Amino acid sequence: MGDLRRRVPGTDTLLAEPRLAAAVATVGRDRVKVAIGRAQDRARRGEIPPERVAEAAVAALPSPVPRAVLNATGVVLHTNLGRAPLGAPAVAAVVAAAGHTDVELDLGTGRRARRGRDALDALAAAVPDAGAVHVVNNGAAALVLAATALAAGGEIVVSRGELVEIGDGFRLPDLVASTGARLREVGTTNRSTLADYAAAIGPRTGFVLKVHPSNFVVTGFTRAVPVRELATLGVPVVADIGSGLLAADPLLPDEPDAASTLRAGAALVTASGDKLLGGPQAGLLLGGAGLVERLRRHPLARALRVDKLTLAALAATLGAPVTPVHAALHADPSALRDRVEGLRVALHAAGRPAETVSSVAVVGGGGAPGVELPSWALSLPQRYAGPLRTGRPPVLGRVVRGRLLLDLRCVPVEADPVVRDAVLAVPAGD
Ligand SMILES: *Cc1c(COP(=O)(O)O)cnc(C)c1O
Repeated sequence: MGDLRRRVPGTDTLLAEPRLAAAVATVGRDRVKVAIGRAQDRARRGEIPPERVAEAAVAALPSPVPRAVLNATGVVLHTNLGRAPLGAPAVAAVVAAAGHTDVELDLGTGRRARRGRDALDALAAAVPDAGAVHVVNNGAAALVLAATALAAGGEIVVSRGELVEIGDGFRLPDLVASTGARLREVGTTNRSTLADYAAAIGPRTGFVLKVHPSNFVVTGFTRAVPVRELATLGVPVVADIGSGLLAADPLLPDEPDAASTLRAGAALVTASGDKLLGGPQAGLLLGGAGLVERLRRHPLARALRVDKLTLAALAATLGAPVTPVHAALHADPSALRDRVEGLRVALHAAGRPAETVSSVAVVGGGGAPGVELPSWALSLPQRYAGPLRTGRPPVLGRVVRGRLLLDLRCVPVEADPVVRDAVLAVPAGD
C-alpha cells in the first residue's frame, strides 16, 4: 500500500501536465487542484493505476458550458460547432471588453461617442467601396433590417432560384415576409432573366434582392442575372452575399465578396460575420451613406444592436491578417500530411495502429458549396468515434466506410498532442 502511495504523481507534477496546465487558465488553479486531489485519492484507494491519475484528473475537471471541442471533421465552417472559431487577438479583445469599456464613450473629450466605432471604422477601412457600414446581430437580422426599413408595405423583387433555406428550417422568403414586405418572385428555379425582373418592377418596388446560394449549387440549364445587370434597373439592389468575404479570394472564385459586389452596383450588401470573414456572429451592412443611415436610424436597429463583446471581437478580427478560418482554408496539404504522419508514428509506437489517408475537406454551410479542399486525415477504427466525441476535450471526426477520419485541416497545429493524447485515452481494444 505504501508503495502504491509513493507511485501516485504529486500535485506539482500533475499541474505541469499540458491539459491540466491549460485548464488552470480556463477554470482556475483551485478547481484544477480539486480535480487532481480527487484523482490522487482514487489512485491511493487502488481504484485506478498511478499512470492514469492525470487522465482521471482531466476527466474530473469541471467542464465549461458550452464545451470547447476540437474540429477534426474537415468542415471549416461547421454550423453545429459554432461556425468560425475566433483568433487569438479576437479572444483577447473579448476578454478585455468583458468589463467596463469605452464602447460608447470618447475618452479624449469625455463625451458620448458612436457605439462600436473601432469595429465600424475597421470594417469601413477594409471595404473602401462602401460609403458607410452598420453591424447587427447576424446575417438574417441584416436582411430583416433592410427589408423593414426599405420595403415594408411595398415589394421586394427576387428570383425563384434564390428562395433559400439557410438551415434548421429557416427560410429567407419567410424571414423577409415577416417584415411586412411582399415578395415578388420572378423567373423559375433554374433560370431568371433581366427581362423577368424588369417586368416585375413598379411603383411599389422597395428593392431588388439578390441572394447568394451559399449552401447549394444548381448546375445544368441555368441562368441568373448578375448584380452588374440588376443595377441597371433603376431601383436599389440589395445583395445578400452570405459569407462575409470582404475582398475576392482566388481560392473561392464563385464566392461573392463585398467590395466587388458594391463595385458592380449594389446599393447595399448584407453578410454574416462568422463565416468566411472568420469573426464573431454578426450581420454586416455595407452600402451608400444615405441608405445605411436610414437603416441605422430605424427603430428596429436598436432591437438588433450587437453586444460590446461582438464589437470587440469584430474589430480585432478585422485588424488581424490571418484568422483561424483563413489558416484552415489556405493550409498546405503537404504540411497537413506531415502532421498526420507524425501522429500516426507516435500512435504506432504506443501500440495504436492508425493510417494516414488523403481526405477532402469542405468550407461548410457557411459558403462555397462544391469547393473541395485537398486534405489529410488520421484513420482509426470506427469504435473510436464515440469515446473521442465524449472525451476531454471532445474530438470530432467523421465516419467514412467504417473508419473514423480525423482531418487536421481545422485543427490548430499546437493541438496535435491533444489529438494524440485523446486517442491514447480511449481504452485499447483488440
Ligand atoms: C448564412 C446566410 C444567411 C444567414 O446569416 P446568419 O448570420 O446565419 O443569420 C443569410 N443569407 C445567406 C445567403 C447566407 O449564406
